[in-house]
Amino acid sequence: MAKLKLEWRRQTLHTRHRWATAQGGINEKQTIVVSVEHEGLIGRGEATPSALFGQSLEGAEAALEECKELLGDDPFAIAEVLDRLIDHVDDERDVIAAVETALHDLAARKLKMPVWRYLGLPEPRIKTTFSIGIATPDEIREKVREALAAGFDRLKVKVGGEHDLKTLQIIRESFDGPLYLDANQGWTPETAPAKIREIAPFKPVLLEQPISKKLTAELKPLRELGLMPIFADEACERPTDIIRLKDVVDGVNIKFNKCGGIRQALAMIEIARACGLQIMLGCFVSSSLAIAPALAVASRVDHADLDGALLLADDPFASLIACDKGLLTPRAGDGFGGDGK
Ligand SMILES: [Mg+2]
Repeated sequence: MAKLKLEWRRQTLHTRHRWATAQGGINEKQTIVVSVEHEGLIGRGEATPSALFGQSLEGAEAALEECKELLGDDPFAIAEVLDRLIDHVDDERDVIAAVETALHDLAARKLKMPVWRYLGLPEPRIKTTFSIGIATPDEIREKVREALAAGFDRLKVKVGGEHDLKTLQIIRESFDGPLYLDANQGWTPETAPAKIREIAPFKPVLLEQPISKKLTAELKPLRELGLMPIFADEACERPTDIIRLKDVVDGVNIKFNKCGGIRQALAMIEIARACGLQIMLGCFVSSSLAIAPALAVASRVDHADLDGALLLADDPFASLIACDKGLLTPRAGDGFGGDGK
């Protein structure tokens, strides 16, 4: 059989609004489109390197160079290839996710079926939260108006900035639905309890990563305040992190570029469920090429935060996913959709 051939290119994405969290802001982002070719069919994935996890475009490209020789000649041997990728480029889980999801796209295309069916999962029809970054009160008002006008009925808001209470007041003036909060490590074990008490009256569904990802035991007293479910995001990268976190949080946020793709995400979902944790599936700002694989497994989680491509002004892979009033569904087609050429 012919060897699988790996290629990649950078793509530049632009956000509709400046996108800011407690860790900083961006107006544009570069990601890497990865393709795996075998006997004329192509599977695609996207690497979205994040400095938060020590990832970079240059590091990703160096890792991809290494991956070229690891793919073998059997497009269905995904588990074996994944083992080799983890052995060789463990620090670049964004790259592992891109290659591994491209392999799923390719295998499903060979079998002429969508990836969700190839995985034995139902066709996803998933409501996503829509995220509102840290911004000035006037900008928040405008973003909320836009989100509600577009039909989103669950909002996720970044906190940990200087206008948190004002932001939440503005949102609650026009929105009484499910509100997810994410502090992106913005607080300390000393400041967090007071912050959590302040935001509790706004009745959030949950709060992500209030304090540094390096602090595990310190999450427990925040959970024990009993004011809102506390989720680990930055602290929860891989399957073993769930074991470490299971007694200090109520839930975990799983993302493909942290864990390394579909198979690792599904493993984490099962471990988290066995540990009695709630599960959120998240993403980074990316094109729909990185969202489509997450959408394929999103029927297995409690909360989907898959709006990374909806924040873009120009999504080159918009044709892969339909979004109707916050309801995400894959477009018809094999693999992740599209023509696969
Ligand atoms: Mg988060």
